[in-house]
Amino acid sequence: MDYKHFSHPHNLLIHRPYELGQQVTCSGCQFPCDNTTAAVHACHRCNFFLHDHCANAGRYVKHPCHKPHPLVLLPYPTYAGNTFVCNACGRPGKAFSYCCALCEFDLHVGCALLPVSVVNKDHQHELDLYYGAQVVPRRGSSNDQEYCNICRNVLEGRQWAYCCKTCDFNVHTACATTEVVPGLYEDDSPDCEAVEGQGAWAGAGVVAAEGGGNVVEVELTEAELAKLLFDMKLHIMAQNIATSGI
Ligand SMILES: [Zn+2]
Ligand SMILES: [Zn+2]
Ligand SMILES: [Zn+2]
Ligand SMILES: [Zn+2]
Ligand SMILES: [Zn+2]
Ligand SMILES: [Zn+2]
Repeated sequence: MDYKHFSHPHNLLIHRPYELGQQVTCSGCQFPCDNTTAAVHACHRCNFFLHDHCANAGRYVKHPCHKPHPLVLLPYPTYAGNTFVCNACGRPGKAFSYCCALCEFDLHVGCALLPVSVVNKDHQHELDLYYGAQVVPRRGSSNDQEYCNICRNVLEGRQWAYCCKTCDFNVHTACATTEVVPGLYEDDSPDCEAVEGQGAWAGAGVVAAEGGGNVVEVELTEAELAKLLFDMKLHIMAQNIATSGI
């Protein structure tokens, strides 16, 4: 079975990951397609592969971290340098992004689909997701740096973090969710695969504490989409004109 995905000019074939016989990298999120993904969507001609959750990521979402505007899934960054910096994890990205071009706000697909809370084997309490600026310096600390309780590296206040409400335990999103499969937390996907998936990684020591997600997929008509993109393009063009002083 093959089908057309908006991000690629050729039809994609759907495989089980083991059917590929080799480790491939997802062209959407740039992470390996290992056995945590239910399926790999492939164009063999181009060595183009997508995780199941990246291929099925909604094109327009309302995200609680960015309430004023819907985020649009872009197949590649539209910025100069063909790269974006993720507002959640602070790392660069070159492939899919959930973007608000009006605000130059971008998220990796995996970051956009992070669960609102997780249980991690390194901590006895449930950890809640904070959209940055919630991490306050440790009381009595001599400098104003906060550190991740798992990897011990600096936790930037403007980056997202998982924090314990009860104790002083704050960690990077990536450190808390190394075994969490993104994409199972969308409100609109309570299907059998999601349930199967949860069972699969419950044994891995990391589980989403609640099934409910925080991301709502938005249905837009083609006309609404055209208008949204048009508004964004206009805004970028207007900004370019303003900064180049023409
Ligand atoms: Zn992916
Ligand atoms: Zn192709
Ligand atoms: Zn990110
Ligand atoms: Zn915005
Ligand atoms: Zn960390
Ligand atoms: Zn705790």
